Amino acid sequence: MCRSIVSPPVRKSDHVSVESVETNLYILTSGRRRIPAHAKILASASPVLESIIDSPLKRRSFEKTIPILGVPCDAVEVFVSFLYSNRCNEEHMEKFGIHLLALAHVYLVPQLKTQCTKALIGRLTVENVVDVLQLARLCDAPDLYLKCMKVISNRFKSVEETEGWKFLQNNDPHLELEILKFIDDVESRRKSTRKHLQEQSLYFQLSEAMDCLQHICTEGCTSVGPYDKEPSKNRAPCSKFSTCEGLQHSIYHFANCKKRVNGGCVRCKRMWQLFKLHSSICESPDSTCKVPLCRQFKTRGKQVKNKKEEARWELLVRKVVAAKAISSLSLPKRKLEQQEQPRSLREAINCHVSVAC
Ligand SMILES: [Zn+2]
Ligand SMILES: [Zn+2]
Ligand SMILES: [Zn+2]
Repeated sequence: MCRSIVSPPVRKSDHVSVESVETNLYILTSGRRRIPAHAKILASASPVLESIIDSPLKRRSFEKTIPILGVPCDAVEVFVSFLYSNRCNEEHMEKFGIHLLALAHVYLVPQLKTQCTKALIGRLTVENVVDVLQLARLCDAPDLYLKCMKVISNRFKSVEETEGWKFLQNNDPHLELEILKFIDDVESRRKSTRKHLQEQSLYFQLSEAMDCLQHICTEGCTSVGPYDKEPSKNRAPCSKFSTCEGLQHSIYHFANCKKRVNGGCVRCKRMWQLFKLHSSICESPDSTCKVPLCRQFKTRGKQVKNKKEEARWELLVRKVVAAKAISSLSLPKRKLEQQEQPRSLREAINCHVSVAC
């Protein structure tokens, strides 16, 4: 018979010591170790053990033994000790964590299952993650399962080299497929989040460009101003000067370019689209808006030629309006800017606005 590693079970909870109460059954391990225990305590800690203890066959038998086989004797002993104390030390968890999880699952001991899940999550490595994943799946431990999947997904190149992965490939093609699908899903979620953030960043840049265009054409910035007002040479750069500066150059170019839009000038086309975008979101009465071409675009707006093109444009307008509303509340813009390196306005316009002039 193998030797015991923990002291005999003693329950110290509820201010009642049962040390003196005689044990009335034995747990039998696969190494033929007999662990003395109290039927009442086991029954109160595990509904599965309770139903075994209460079964008519056990009631009649002279010496009551409950076999817990298939796991190391020491793991069973630590398990029984947990049923008494609700505690398991780090050293035992380190040695028998996976066995204890299996026992907690089979004998329905949720507190132990929670502790094992936490401990195993903390001890996940590239080497053991595939084995722990299989166990988590068998023992219905969703937190542990998810954590294992994430570790495999993040470190797949290294996991692929492990014996655990090779064994899984040969023996459990369903789980292999499940893992590969999870990795695929994670990758496509990452891509779509990245794309979404880039789009949001673009809409915020366009919204800022709209604010600057309005400000340049109404109050005037450093070098460009409304037609009825001389731009002040002494004016200090405004708070959004990085955007205003580029816009002022583009407006200046637009006004003086010989090729113009129809001559195929890309820079003029971009400026043309910004004027058009302004007109699409402009709510000022025609007579008061000082942004060039605003009225012309509003009048031309009704003559739709390409419906698909128009639908894309409408979507862009809606997104920019939404970004403008969010900006005016100064909410998630700053957060977005931290997450994404904003692309240049020119790049943004080229990517999302088709030339329709
Ligand atoms: Zn400015
Ligand atoms: Zn030009
Ligand atoms: Zn306008």
